[in-house]
Amino acid sequence: MKNIDTVAQMILESKCSFAFTGAGISLESGIPTFRGKAGLWNRYNPNILDIDYFYNNPKDAWEGIKEIFYDYWNKAMPNKAHYLLADMEKNNLLNGIITQNIDNLHQKAGNKEVYEFHGTLNTLHCVECMKKYDAKDVSEKLPFRCDECGGLVKPDFVFFGEGIPELAYQKSIEAASKADLFIVIGTTGEVMPACSIPVLAKRNGAKIIEINPEKSTFTDTITDVYIKGKAAEVAEKLYELNLLKEIW
Ligand code: NAD
Repeated sequence: MKNIDTVAQMILESKCSFAFTGAGISLESGIPTFRGKAGLWNRYNPNILDIDYFYNNPKDAWEGIKEIFYDYWNKAMPNKAHYLLADMEKNNLLNGIITQNIDNLHQKAGNKEVYEFHGTLNTLHCVECMKKYDAKDVSEKLPFRCDECGGLVKPDFVFFGEGIPELAYQKSIEAASKADLFIVIGTTGEVMPACSIPVLAKRNGAKIIEINPEKSTFTDTITDVYIKGKAAEVAEKLYELNLLKEIW
């Protein structure tokens, strides 16, 4: 695989590295992307994730949300690429992850320092009394309403029309200010403001490695080393490299 040795060397030499991940890293865990040929928006109406639509049509929105996120995604397991990032963090080869994903797979793989730029499906809250719920609490009766006050319960992921969670945003900016290496995996780089984070890192002096079977908005603009490939397959190759085995 072209550039794989260079990437391993860059990882070993880095003093402060972060991964920046998108939907593509979870594809091999069976979670579809939103866009593209097999994307979810070919089967569902994206409106179900629009915040105004959610409040005005809670039953319809919740029926789609439950089916996509809680009957299916919630049962997905991490793949080799998630485990590689977890092993890297354990071995001090990675400082943390900024993820646009909401699927909790980085944490399931064992990563501790994860900034969820678009929130998480793992927790929910009542929009009236703020009572917290877990993914396993999602009711069969829809829309999901609070058992204390009857208010609508909303997943803690970012809907279209909502802001980015404050802490994740701050931590991501901080990471982009101090990193000397960013590993960008499985993202088109089209979603704002998330896509500004690797650009900021580059501006602050970080080298950019990119892993994606298709070129993204980053590839010909900020990427230093591009590996054309699927995340789990590239991870497998990195596991096989003696260079990294010496440490693991
Ligand atoms: P996207 O759907 O716009 O693009 C997916 C990217 O992954 C593309 O660049 C594609 O070439 C690449 N890709 C496809 N297969 C891959 C593979 N096997 N390995 C590596 N890369 C692969 O995804 P995005 O840029 O992350 O933006 C979509 C938004 O939707 C995100 O903000 C995210 O919050 C959300 N989303 C999240 C999930 C999830 O949590 N797993 C899934 C779908 C969408």
